Amino acid sequence: MHGPARPSDVIPLRDHAAPQAPSPDAASTDLFDAGTSLDPTRRIFVNRNLRLDQIHLVGFDMDYTLARYVKRAMEALSFRLTAERLVERLGYPEEILRLEYDPSFVIRGLAVDKRLGNILKMDGHNHVGRVHHGRRALTRDERKNAYRSAKVRLSASRYHWIDTLFALPEAQLFADIIDLYETELGVGRVAYWKLFDDIRNSIDECHRDGTLKAIVKADLGSFIHADPLLPSTLHKLRSAGKRLFVLTNSYWDYTDAVMSFLLDGKLGDYPRWINFFDFVVVGAEKPKFFQTHNPFLRLNPLTGEAMNGPVTRLEPRGVYQGGSIGRLDKLIGDAGEHVLYVGDHIYGDIIRSKRSSLWRTALILEELEDEILLARTLDRTQADVIALEEHRTLLDHEITHLKLRLGGLDAALSDAKADPSPEDREPPKVEELADTRRKLRMSLDRKRRDLRATVARRDQLAAEIERHYNPYWGSSFKEGREVSRFGAQVEDYACVYTSRVSNFLCYSPQQYFRAPRHWMSHEKI
Ligand code: IMP
Ligand code: MG
Repeated sequence: MHGPARPSDVIPLRDHAAPQAPSPDAASTDLFDAGTSLDPTRRIFVNRNLRLDQIHLVGFDMDYTLARYVKRAMEALSFRLTAERLVERLGYPEEILRLEYDPSFVIRGLAVDKRLGNILKMDGHNHVGRVHHGRRALTRDERKNAYRSAKVRLSASRYHWIDTLFALPEAQLFADIIDLYETELGVGRVAYWKLFDDIRNSIDECHRDGTLKAIVKADLGSFIHADPLLPSTLHKLRSAGKRLFVLTNSYWDYTDAVMSFLLDGKLGDYPRWINFFDFVVVGAEKPKFFQTHNPFLRLNPLTGEAMNGPVTRLEPRGVYQGGSIGRLDKLIGDAGEHVLYVGDHIYGDIIRSKRSSLWRTALILEELEDEILLARTLDRTQADVIALEEHRTLLDHEITHLKLRLGGLDAALSDAKADPSPEDREPPKVEELADTRRKLRMSLDRKRRDLRATVARRDQLAAEIERHYNPYWGSSFKEGREVSRFGAQVEDYACVYTSRVSNFLCYSPQQYFRAPRHWMSHEKI
């Protein structure tokens, strides 16, 4: 860092005063219950203190961040195109075309095990909590045999981490093709690893060769939600003096089509989407953007064609392709910690940028809205589960204590019988000990019955709660009582997280987002 220079001191990114628009706050009032407390599904949650007044540049990813896809339509399309490609280009059996996309099966944060043909969910300690082979849940023993002998390292080539919403269809296809082969078609041993690689390469091709994007572009309204609060949100940030930019992996042609659909003509004084932004980077190739030192290429925004010459400054509303974090940081005057990057991809947008730069991060998690609503509906059941867990802890202590006392009594009794000291020789003393032992034994049995009933009831209620989230996997953010591996990454890497970009409209552009106090286990007693 070269001192606290504001980027605006270094390069005049904006060549005009912020356009005037109707007060955005009027549009955001719908998000407040009774005009005061913010709808909880639209809140911004804080892991690490973030002062918006210290943020001078806000960068946005496009797909699944500024552009909220109609998830079902987008996933069903990738599912179908990938299945067709497997059959038509790689010779897979036609029965695959009968498989149907099922939005309830796969959630973000799972991992594919290419060696064993499984899909698994882990907790934040990398403990494998549940596993499905095809659609069948593995038993506890099967799970232990498969994943308890060695540490599961998701970075190993054996595993593929489903960390973006774009990747859900490939995991479902993998499971469903395995089921199709092993149950219906009765094919011998399935080459799981090759199957997954074929699916991955096919879906990758659909994205890269334009097949998928051509269909989306032809009917943007069916595939993308145009959030009506997005234009006001961007305007509010700009009016507070922040410079905005787009940093997306999509290329110019698609970016221009999607952003026009979202923003063109939506707010007076911003005739074109690009008027909202100070510069735009397309084809960024994140996560590589955060790992290499690639130069930027300047594009002609009218034709999308590359322009000659090195990029030494950012032109107002300039469009660039490629590049890298180091080069961008230089161009914006080493603004590092004054940049907030808003993205949806936990690895490509958030983890990678956090590891390679000082940029602050905001993660968009659209799952939050459903999960928060469910948590509120289920809060009584959840309170019962917590009460049962506390009761179980108490019973555990009592049982341990009773067992210790019983052990002591057993020893005293056998001593008294084997080698009676003068006072123990009295029969009443032995009987007294035996009587106390009998009572403790009964009490222990009662506590054990209570413990079994408590655990059974707790498991029953917990399973009921999880079924409401997802019948196969439960909540995206929890695994059993622990934070899921995905939830742990959200906590570790995202400074703040929220369900959609327009939630920023409900907060001041000078907001001090304060993280809740963190308690260690010993502090809670
Ligand atoms: P961003 O989220 O705005 O950075 O853009 C994501 C881009 O990555 C979109 O253009 C997607 O079509 C593209 N994409 C998503 N998954 C894949 C893939 O598996 N292979 C190639 N491109 C992908
Ligand atoms: Mg994205």
